[in-house]
Amino acid sequence: MTAQREPGFRQSVDLMFNRAAALLKLSPGLEEKIRVCNSTYTVRFGVRLRGRIETFTGYRSVHSEHLEPVKGGIRYALSVDQDEVEALAALMTYKCALVEVPYGGAKGGLCLDPRQWEEHELEQITRRFAFELIKRDLINPAQNVPAPDMGTSEREMAWIADQYARIHTTDINARACVTGKPLNSGGIQGRVEATGRGVQFALREFFRHPDDVARAGLGGGIEGKRIIIQGLGNVGYHAAKFLSEEDGARIVGISERDGAIASEAGLNVEEVKAHLARKGGVKDFPGATFRPDSARLLEEDCDILIPAAMEGVINLDNAARIRAPLILEAANGPITAGADEVLRQMGKVIIPDLYANAGGVTVSYFEWVKNLSHIRFGRIQRRQEEAQHELLVRELERLSADKGLGWTLAPDFKERYLRGAGELELVRSGLDDTMRGAYQSMREVWHGREGVTDLRLAAYIVSVQRVAASYRAKGL
Ligand code: GLU
Repeated sequence: MTAQREPGFRQSVDLMFNRAAALLKLSPGLEEKIRVCNSTYTVRFGVRLRGRIETFTGYRSVHSEHLEPVKGGIRYALSVDQDEVEALAALMTYKCALVEVPYGGAKGGLCLDPRQWEEHELEQITRRFAFELIKRDLINPAQNVPAPDMGTSEREMAWIADQYARIHTTDINARACVTGKPLNSGGIQGRVEATGRGVQFALREFFRHPDDVARAGLGGGIEGKRIIIQGLGNVGYHAAKFLSEEDGARIVGISERDGAIASEAGLNVEEVKAHLARKGGVKDFPGATFRPDSARLLEEDCDILIPAAMEGVINLDNAARIRAPLILEAANGPITAGADEVLRQMGKVIIPDLYANAGGVTVSYFEWVKNLSHIRFGRIQRRQEEAQHELLVRELERLSADKGLGWTLAPDFKERYLRGAGELELVRSGLDDTMRGAYQSMREVWHGREGVTDLRLAAYIVSVQRVAASYRAKGL
């Protein structure tokens, strides 16, 4: 549990914002305008379930409308309340600005435990919640576009999209009212993996800068690094999978609801995931040691710690015991403002949430653009590109034969070069470019601006500057 002296989540985000604002010297009015949450709509609605009327409480909070639509997921969890939703909406504003995704920040939430309800019941609840938001334009392709978050997935997004289309029967852009949809409802390839993929691209970019790696007291690349992951949900699972299977990292610990498992030899992420799906927990996973106290895993020795579950898990109670020199925030707000200060003093390097988990909203942006353009990326040019490449390969082969040079192209090169990019390749390319660019803009401030001691402060400076410029340009 978090100690009494710890501020709430929203206050914690505000404290982080304040550090940047102090260096930016914004006019007090503008500073206040950016910090505050524009509006929060609370709805209480009843649904007839299991022979009685159940009342649910939901929220949609809009932090900043300097750009529209506003964007941010909808969370289903018992922790959902106004403070949490507003903190998460503020983080969305800063996150979108940092990765240059042209949205204001928003977030929604429904206070319920999704595991307590059957699928058909969740559909009824989701459709009713969506209806309440749609009729107030709090879901709308031009104004407010939700996405999945903790406790929701493609399935809920498909219900929301369908609910919107039923109400707005003639809106040709109806599908753009929500992102993170399944492919058959207007989704985009690579959206499910996007946040985890973004974590991988973020770490890869970090490790491209030896100076930055050295600040964490590390060296070399991702290969062989010992990683601990908290939470094997959508984000944690994909991040752990890609980093271990593609980049050669060793996942030495994973924690879940029921406890934590550890293995120095490295955990096979797919096998842990399958075990979790079968048994509902990580306990009894073969070849690993198990401990019921999952929070303790955060304090274990490793090279990179990746909290990928809830906010506030690293707080004033445990911050001083964190041993990892490098922490990547895959969740939103896993480190409280107080803990952030402690960790900074300990010399830890933190790759902050507004950057590290921005892959989700980045690919959401691609999905929204796809929906508005009504065509899949790559559909027009893919075969033409392949034909061009084929021309070049044929010409090389002809020259080699004519001149008796005896050149042969490696079969792997030919196969890879000839294949034109489809939607998935384009999405990954766009995401990689976004993550690299955003890191570099943070890095410039981190290394180049007086008084900037850490990446989080740099990230806030970049994004708050952009939001401020946008307000100044259009007037309030
Ligand atoms: N819920 C995700 C986040 O926190 C994605 C938001 C979106 O795609 O709009 O960034």
